[in-house]
Amino acid sequence: MNRGISILMYHQVGRFRPMKSHRSTYCHHRRFKAQMTLLKLLGYRVLDFDSMLATLRGEREVPPRAVVLTFDDGYENFREYAHPVLHRLRLPSMVYLLAGYLGDSARWFASDGRDTPPLMDAATVSTLARQGVSFGSHGINHLKLADQPSEVIEREVHESRELLERATGLQIRDFCFPYGSHDRRCLQAVRSAGYRSAVTCVRGSAYPGEDLFQLPRKAISFGDSLAGFLWKIHVKNRRKHPPL
Ligand SMILES: [Zn+2]
Repeated sequence: MNRGISILMYHQVGRFRPMKSHRSTYCHHRRFKAQMTLLKLLGYRVLDFDSMLATLRGEREVPPRAVVLTFDDGYENFREYAHPVLHRLRLPSMVYLLAGYLGDSARWFASDGRDTPPLMDAATVSTLARQGVSFGSHGINHLKLADQPSEVIEREVHESRELLERATGLQIRDFCFPYGSHDRRCLQAVRSAGYRSAVTCVRGSAYPGEDLFQLPRKAISFGDSLAGFLWKIHVKNRRKHPPL
């Protein structure tokens, strides 16, 4: 039995035709509903971020079958498709927002010819926060941070927090590296900006004693069946890359 926490990574949840690329960033809404229902029926413990961090700090036992749900980029389809399911099943979630794109669309998709889906605005975020959704920062401009000069990293990490707090009235304490791109400078920046955690795209489970600023996650892909979904939770536990 895995005594770690599977932090699941989702991006868009909605109605999609099967696609060839970027499959790990789409989840059909019916499949999403089935996945969440399964977690509930099989007695998985879906932790909120406070409980997860307390557990990883060693303040609490890791419950069996521990899962955390994260959603990158803050798509409007989170509100439309994912949130109603989560709300009905009373499952906590964390959504990472881009400070430079609130109420805008995912314009960075245009470079690879995809449609640019709308992103939630500040009013929607505030409403969902009152219904128990947690929010963190995904930077300002959705940049690969490890490729940037240090002053850009600093601005993306520090200012995104201030901008999001001002726009939403929420306290922003958790960060998510766009594309999972991070290096030592990025880790230093999230620490000095006063965040309490940061997630990556390194695949694996999170264990007590883990560096809270380079948490591993497991991407749930468009093609994952329910069996594949459970298999990812139970089997893909060893970090694919060691921490920096
Ligand atoms: Zn992203």
